Amino acid sequence: MAIIAGNWKMNMTPSETKRFLEDLVPALKGAKHTIMVFPPFPCLQAAAAALEGSKVILGAQNLHHEEKGAFTGEVSAAMLADSGCDAVILGHSERRQHFKETNNAINLKIRRALRSGLQPVLCVGETDKQRESGETEEVLREQLNGCLKDLPKDEVKGIIIAYEPVWAIGTGKTATPDIAQETHAFIRSSLEKLFSKATAKAIPLLYGGSMKPDNAKALLSEPDIDGGLIGGASLDKEDFLAIIRAAD
Ligand code: PEP
Repeated sequence: MAIIAGNWKMNMTPSETKRFLEDLVPALKGAKHTIMVFPPFPCLQAAAAALEGSKVILGAQNLHHEEKGAFTGEVSAAMLADSGCDAVILGHSERRQHFKETNNAINLKIRRALRSGLQPVLCVGETDKQRESGETEEVLREQLNGCLKDLPKDEVKGIIIAYEPVWAIGTGKTATPDIAQETHAFIRSSLEKLFSKATAKAIPLLYGGSMKPDNAKALLSEPDIDGGLIGGASLDKEDFLAIIRAAD
């Protein structure tokens, strides 16, 4: 069984969310996979209402690591949980790039998510420059070590990791199945070194970066690719459904 997750980024209003999910949910009847959607904060309540009674998991795209307080414009884990979320994307490359999120800050966010009963989807990935200069493994090792620092083994098992090469996000350039598999295998072996073989095996590894209906099957057939985190194509109902079918 695969995990197919849609990262909507800063797209869709609450009314568009309602319409989209009310259309999507009936079309998912009989789907064998775990489906997750990550709408923007103001759409979460509309999404939770539209998803009621379905098995689709609702998540948010970020949180603040503090429990509550004077952090104008920020959103807490408790607010997300109370809005119907069970998961949260953390460390997306767009947040690392535009909002200067560091591995240390992401580590604090993961701790808060776990303490609040939210499943973190931790994103890691290298830029094109880093891949071209042969630094991919070093970058990924640093991201994994920093973001997962001092987390207990039993809690780490509750995390999902998405490998999202920055050069493939929203660019239409996808990692070939070979590159994606090789990198996922590296992530799996790094997790094994950090925790244990059993923990590394238990953590689902999603591929993200221009996954589309026409490349999903080949990527999802690789042994260390347990699912996909989909941006652009998750905003189109037919494309998202086609990717879910490709996971069969
Ligand atoms: C993403 O931002 O998580 C992503 C994978 O985007 P896209 O599918 O559009 O490349």
